Amino acid sequence: MSARPVVELAGVCYEYDGERVLDDVTLTIEEGDFLGIIGPNGAGKTTLLKVMLGLLRPSCGTVRLFGTDVSRFQEWWRIGYLPQGTAFDPRFPATVEEVVASGRVSRQGVGRLFTQADREAVEHVLELLGLLDERNRRIGHLSLGQQQRVLIARALVNHPDLIVLDEPLVGVDAPSQEQFYRLLHRLNREQGTTLVLVTHDVGVIASEVAKLACLNRQLIYHGCPEDFLESEALAKVYRPGVRIVSHTH
Ligand code: ADP
Repeated sequence: MSARPVVELAGVCYEYDGERVLDDVTLTIEEGDFLGIIGPNGAGKTTLLKVMLGLLRPSCGTVRLFGTDVSRFQEWWRIGYLPQGTAFDPRFPATVEEVVASGRVSRQGVGRLFTQADREAVEHVLELLGLLDERNRRIGHLSLGQQQRVLIARALVNHPDLIVLDEPLVGVDAPSQEQFYRLLHRLNREQGTTLVLVTHDVGVIASEVAKLACLNRQLIYHGCPEDFLESEALAKVYRPGVRIVSHTH
């Protein structure tokens, strides 16, 4: 039995001010996939995620989420999104716990009171990410790595079926990175969570993801990482001579 599609892009194009940055992208992401998306700077990776999540409307083609056209999709709590990192201003007036709890709004609806289930979900995810001791601190007072962990907690707080991460580890130290990948693998293997990870780190895809998409405005490759890393497509997209050092945990 084949896995159910979670994201289906068919013939997707997108232009900024007439400049095409996504060109006829067709890609299906299935339930339980752990897909890495790589490509050079300006390849359209972030744009692709935004189109996927209905934040940008494609100029042509279709996008379906969990089998529903993105324009009619409503179950947003099934998706956790971690946008590309920007540091919080130290004066940003929210605590760690409040930032994580704000992730429940898509499930709750704005203006509804928090339930016991919300409180428990927040507690659970703070514990999972080792943030219980930081819960009352202002997010802008934390290190960049800790801030990213808070945003990951926010993305996880609804137990999403799909998590979309855009370069989540920029500025994060190596031990936190390893911890982060262990968490992702647990979610993927134990709970069957579908993961989509944009990364500039080609080494990461060699060791972490199960499937790979390489984008350079068009979809250059979609398949198993090993075949891509051994193929000439890699040198076409990146500099010839890029060497991948694989490491496993
Ligand atoms: P990547 O994530 O692969 O680096 P992006 O999707 O961020 O690529 O950007 C693709 C191209 O679109 C780049 O040339 C970028 O400069 C351009 N671009 C991105 N966002 C905007 C925007 N809001 N307005 C105009 N051009 C943009």
